[in-house]
Amino acid sequence: MLECIFTIDYEIFGNGEGSLKELVHDPAEKLRRVFKKWNASFVTFVEAAELEIIDAEGTDNAINLVKNQIRDLYRDGFELALHLHPQWYNARYEDRKWHLDYSEYNLCTLSRERIAQIIERSIAYLQHVIRVSNFTPLAFRAGNWLFQPTQTVADVLVENGIKVDSSVFKGGVQRQHKLDYRQALRNGYHWKFSDDVTTPDLNGTLLELPIYTQMVPIWKMFTSKRVGLQRKGSSSSKTRKMRLNRLMDFMQFRYPLKFDFCRMTIGELTAAMDTVIQEDQKNPGSFKPIVLIGHTKDLVDFKTVESFLSYLREKRIKISTFKEVYQRCPQ
Ligand SMILES: [Zn+2]
Repeated sequence: MLECIFTIDYEIFGNGEGSLKELVHDPAEKLRRVFKKWNASFVTFVEAAELEIIDAEGTDNAINLVKNQIRDLYRDGFELALHLHPQWYNARYEDRKWHLDYSEYNLCTLSRERIAQIIERSIAYLQHVIRVSNFTPLAFRAGNWLFQPTQTVADVLVENGIKVDSSVFKGGVQRQHKLDYRQALRNGYHWKFSDDVTTPDLNGTLLELPIYTQMVPIWKMFTSKRVGLQRKGSSSSKTRKMRLNRLMDFMQFRYPLKFDFCRMTIGELTAAMDTVIQEDQKNPGSFKPIVLIGHTKDLVDFKTVESFLSYLREKRIKISTFKEVYQRCPQ
């Protein structure tokens, strides 16, 4: 049994460049219209840190549009989830650009006290935006997918009422940040965990619903659509060492292709799903939530999104949310 969950990371470029209206508000609005038309829903991973800091510093007039949109999405029944790039909290705006605090880039490497401060603050900002003082997001996704070392952040998330993580992309490696999700390739479609996000633990307190990936030969990563979107968002401030590390991550025979509805072509999306359907037919009784990812900043090709929604309807595959899926996974 297959269900698809569409998730969208709601944020500007990772180095602080770009406008909220162009990279966040307008694409999210169009996506909402498309999903409404198809009577479907998506999960919005709101990057709370950048929005709070941009809001406080008053550097982008579209912040009010964005806050209204988040509130509208919530009232309209769209699930809101927590996404976090902690490098924003100590950011400074100087010479008309943002200087982010890269010493806080990976939440998992900070002290327990700092992690707790950040998570509490980010949830409080979401509560403020939607004007619901007891709102708790069900799901979390780490900035740049960095959820290792896992234990402290997992504990703090649980203390704050979060129950689902969707940071893992099976097969992923980022040497620079000591991230290694290759062990998760052995895992199923969902698992509980406690001290390491890639190690299933039946008594774990968080549920992992990983971003779906397929291991593909490296040349398949370089479609013109993906390379174009990657280039648009790549920061000129990357150092040679960062580029080299990134290149090293690609030096594998097979690479995890994330199920990305903004970056993949319709041919890639349907081919990936055809493989999933074949896999499901071997064991249709087991529940297989398939998490897709997208970013508002990459969202330009709505024709592909609609064609894929049409394909899913034809195949009678349900579009779900974390809230619905969570109920159906063993607790
Ligand atoms: Zn992000």
